[in-house]
This record gives sequence, structure tokens and C-alpha cells, in this order.
Amino acid sequence: MAFNTAGYNIVDHDYDVVVVGAGGAGLRATFGMVQNGLKTACITKVFPTRSHTVAAQGGVGAALGNMAEDNWVWHMYDTVKGSDWLGDQDAIEYMCREAIPAVYELENYGVPFSRTPDGKIYQRPFGGHMRNFGEAPVQRACAAADRTGHAILHTLYQQSLKYQAEFFVEYFAIDLMMDAEGCRGVVALDMATGTIHRFRAHTTVIATGGYGRAYFSCTSAHTCTGDGNGMVARAGLPLQDMEFVQFHPTGVYGAGVLITEGARGEGGYLTNSAGDRFMERYAPTAKDLASRDVVSRSMTMEIREGRGVGPEKDHILLHLEHLGADVLYQRLPGITETAKIFAGIDATKNAIPVLPTVHYNMGGIPTNYMAEVIKPLPGKPDNVLPGLMAVGEAACVSVHGANRLGTNSLLDLVVFGRAASLRAKDIVKAGATHRPLPKDASDLALSRLDRIRNANGSLTTAAIRKSMQRTMQNDAAVFRTAKTLKEGLDKMGQIAGTMKDLKVSDRSLIFNTDLIEALELDNLIPCALATIAGAEARHESRGAHAHEDYPNRDDANWMKHTLASIDEAYKVKLDYRPVHTYTLTNEVQYIPPKARVY
Ligand SMILES: Cc1cc2nc3c(=O)[nH]c(=O)nc-3n(C[C@H](O)[C@H](O)[C@H](O)COP(=O)(O)OP(=O)(O)OC[C@H]3O[C@@H](n4cnc5c(N)ncnc54)[C@H](O)[C@@H]3O)c2cc1C
Repeated sequence: MAFNTAGYNIVDHDYDVVVVGAGGAGLRATFGMVQNGLKTACITKVFPTRSHTVAAQGGVGAALGNMAEDNWVWHMYDTVKGSDWLGDQDAIEYMCREAIPAVYELENYGVPFSRTPDGKIYQRPFGGHMRNFGEAPVQRACAAADRTGHAILHTLYQQSLKYQAEFFVEYFAIDLMMDAEGCRGVVALDMATGTIHRFRAHTTVIATGGYGRAYFSCTSAHTCTGDGNGMVARAGLPLQDMEFVQFHPTGVYGAGVLITEGARGEGGYLTNSAGDRFMERYAPTAKDLASRDVVSRSMTMEIREGRGVGPEKDHILLHLEHLGADVLYQRLPGITETAKIFAGIDATKNAIPVLPTVHYNMGGIPTNYMAEVIKPLPGKPDNVLPGLMAVGEAACVSVHGANRLGTNSLLDLVVFGRAASLRAKDIVKAGATHRPLPKDASDLALSRLDRIRNANGSLTTAAIRKSMQRTMQNDAAVFRTAKTLKEGLDKMGQIAGTMKDLKVSDRSLIFNTDLIEALELDNLIPCALATIAGAEARHESRGAHAHEDYPNRDDANWMKHTLASIDEAYKVKLDYRPVHTYTLTNEVQYIPPKARVY
């Protein structure tokens, strides 16, 4: 399809590597690439330190053993178990082993971690992190008070500046440039000037974060709109395991803002309307620190059975007041403030009203443990697509499988951000000549931009977005049934169809937030469709996917990754690929479901 680019001012750039996204994953990849001698551009729609990583509170997981004995193999076991045996064990082994040097690397870069009395990095307990293969909780979350993401993101940005990485700030990536072999770069809009920039690169790294905003109530920033996933879907590549959406047990009731699991790590606990510490019934060993899917479901059960709190009996209470003001101000100052601002509660005196809220996307762009994007071919489920990598929440490595353990995302960002730069060093020759771009390389991006900018239907972005968010919130929730999923899938198909009737009022190209929000919605729609279609098809319960009509995990039929491809007419095609049930080294054998290897 030829496209008339008249009216658009196009600027071309050549780089060895272009990274899209400047959150923890994008920044770690960016300066790693520069360190390895590769000319690298980092494109970001918000200023780097405004990326959602800044909001991470609780900690980054690594078996440092600063508080009591710990072992990366136990961390690996917990992660495989937490993933409900959907995680790829080679990648999990890589992450848990690399966690220890990765955290020391962060310390050396200058992350201001909280300290033990003898000066070591302070570690707190977190859900699902256990000693000796599930025996008892272990303190594994390395924390900078309750502002760990803030500390890490700022430090990584400082490192990027030190290495003089080149940033294109407030540039909105629209679409990938592809040819018959693979990815050739990306097209972006400079939001301040309205110019179009084509970044040609030997490797393009997607680090655009999650898509929490497909739901009505979520803890993630308004910028978490799955842009990279949308780009990948439009390039004809599949998204993996999108049905696995993590609900965090403790979003502030009514506001969705997060109260970190670290609050329960420090000794906080949940009660129902009768004042019962109900987690003792659902998870007698881990109690309030059971993994997130277990706690979210237990809270939902309590509410459903009429033991919710408040006039509507629709939430649960989180108690921190017994910890005392000193601990709260020292270890949890941010959430003490959050409770005051968003719930009007003084956490040193009263319990905080909370509710399970969408928090993290386990699914995303399938990659191997070297961050290379997978495009499965018949008989080759692990086939690598040349020129494209994905890291961070946008990717599905898959280390989180069906359910992510707390603190394993910040870890995933730094471990796989670095892995991407190591792999790029091996496969990209610095300064190598670029093949000419195909004539139509930027047509997909520009024709889409032009279509949306001139959309003249009757529905605003806000109207379509709200329908999508409500549908996902109601029909692809903590508990799912065949009926709600089928209805939700049909509804989402109809809502996607209404994109034809979109109206954008502002036709300008300069700081046009109307246009940017419409482009973001156009990225959220395929994410939502893949999520609900994958969920509808998966006839089992696993991790975050709790299907009431199929309440058990079914390893014989469903221990496999979902692949969802979405065509231009918003039809979702599902396929599957095997879980990696092998490890990278002989130090750990395959961890079979419900079994222990050591
Ligand atoms: C409130 C909260 C608390 C959390 N706490 C923890 C915790 O304690 N421990 C833990 O391990 N995990 C935690 N998580 C999860 C973790 O923080 C996130 O998964 C992680 O930070 C995501 O990082 P990222 O680099 O993949 O993406 P993000 O930090 O979301 O960054 C995305 C980047 O992509 C850019 N971008 C997106 N779209 C475009 C586009 N179209 N063009 C150009 N640029 C684009 C953005 O500008 C941004 O720079 C928390 C998450 C939330 C929401």
C-alpha cells in the first residue's frame, strides 16, 4: 500500500540499537548497549524518571542472605512454584542466579538501599518468598524504604547520563518498521514539534511497560497502555499468556493506588467484617504473605460470602497500626502518606480499606532469556525474529508464568535489560552499514497516524476506553466463569469494532493529547482482546487465571503458553507453545509440579 507522506515532516536517523521506553528495563538496556560500544537511541513518551517504575515500592528480590540463610535455588523454586508451573525454567534459573550480582551492581551504581545495623542491604519478607523449598518465609526483598523503584529508576537514569546515552524525550513510538527478514527500526512522533522520526537500527528493543489501563481499576500509571504490545501485534507477531493478569490484594478502596505488599512483609495483616484474620484459614503457613493470587482470591471469597467491610460490605481492612508510628515512618513512609491522601486514614491509628486491584501483566511479547523476540514457526516454537528484542513488563520471557512473585519485576527489568545488552554485543557489529529500508517501511505507522488524526466518527476516545475498561473489569476479573468470559469476549469484539467510529477533535500535530490518547487506546484494544480471548479458551485454573467452571490446574492439557495473534479486523487467533521444562545448567534439575528436586 503506497502512502502519501505529504504534510508530514520526516527526519531519518541511523543507530546500532534503538530502545523504546525509559523505565527500569529500557534504561538498563540503554546504558548497557552504550557500555558495549553500540550507538544507541532511547525513545520515551514521558521523561525517563516519570516512567511507572518510579512507583514501585516494596523491593527487588535477590537471595543475598543478609537477614538469614538464603539460596538462589530456593528463590528459583519459589518463582517456578509462584508461576504455577507456567514459567520457563531456563529463564527463571538465569534470573534468580543473576539476581545477586544484579543487586550488588545496583548498589555500586548508587541505589540508596535501606541498611541493617551492620551496614548490609536491608531485606524484608514478601509474599511467596520462602526458605528451603517452602518451609518458612525468608527476607529476600532488597528495599530502599518503600520507594525502591524510585531509587532504582533515578540511579539508572544517572548511569545513562554518565554513559552519554542519547535520549529522545517525549517522542511517541507509533509502529515498527519491518521487512521480510525482521525488524528494521521504529517510527516515532516528536510530540513537541509534530515531526516524524524514522529510527533505523540493527536491533530494536521494546521496553514500553504493561497495559494495566485496559482495566477500570489498576495501580499502574495512565501511561501504561501496552504501546509496544500493540506495535508487535500490528507487525503480525503473537502476544503470549496475556490472560494472566495479576490483581494486587491491596489497592486503596475507591482509588486503586497501591499499598505495597511490604506492608504485610513488615507485619501488617488483613481482617474481614468480623475482625477475623481470615488468611490463617486459606494459607495456614504463609498466611497474609501467601502469593498474590491466593490473597486476592481469599479476599474476594470473604466479600462474596458477606464478610466484607463497610456499608456495602465490599472491601477488606489492612492493619498496620499495631506496628507503631516509628516503624511506619521509617520503613513505610510513602504508604503512610498514601493512606492519608487517598483513604483519609492515619495508618498509625486506623486500618486502611483495601480491595484487589489490577497490578501487573504477566503476559506480553514472547522472548527467550536473552531478550530476543520469538516468532514461532511450525515445528520451531522457539524461532527468533531477527532485529527485535523486548524487556521488562512488555515482555513475556517467561519468568513469571501464570503469577508473578512480588519483587521479581524490578529484578526482571535489571537482569533482562542487561541480558539484552549482552546479546546485542554478540549479534550487532558497531557501526555496521544498514540495508536500505523497504520503500513502504513507514507506511503502517504513517497511514495509521493519519487515519486516527483525521478520525471523524461519533465516539470519543474516552467513551470507547470506558466501555473497554468496564468490560475487562467485570468480565475478566479475579474470578472468571465460562459465561462472563464468553460475554466479555463478544462485548470486547463489539467495542473494538467501534474504533471505526472514533472521533478525534484536534487535528494538529503539536502536543495533541487527544491524538496521543487515541493512539494509546488503539494499542490497548489488542491487549484487551488477547487477554479475554486467551482466558476464554483456557479451560483450567492456573495462577492468576481462576476459572470457576474449571477450578483445577490441568497440566496434561494446559501446561503450555498461549499465543494470541490479532488481525486488522480484530479477530484473535490462538495457538500454543510448550513451556521450557528444562534448566540451563546441571545445578538445578527440572522442578516438576508439586514436587521437590532437592
Ligand atoms: C504501584 C506499583 C508498585 C510496584 N512495586 C513493585 C515492587 O515493589 N517490586 C517489583 O518487583 N515490582 C513492582 N511493580 C512492578 C514494576 O514496577 C513494573 O512492572 C516495572 O517497573 C515496569 O518497568 P518497565 O521498564 O517495563 O516499564 P515502565 O517503567 O512502565 O516504563 C515504560 C517506558 O516506556 C515508555 N513508552 C511507553 N510507550 C511508549 C511509546 N509509544 N513511545 C515511546 N515510549 C513509550 C514510557 O515513556 C516509559 O519510559 C510495581 C508496579 C506498580 C504499578
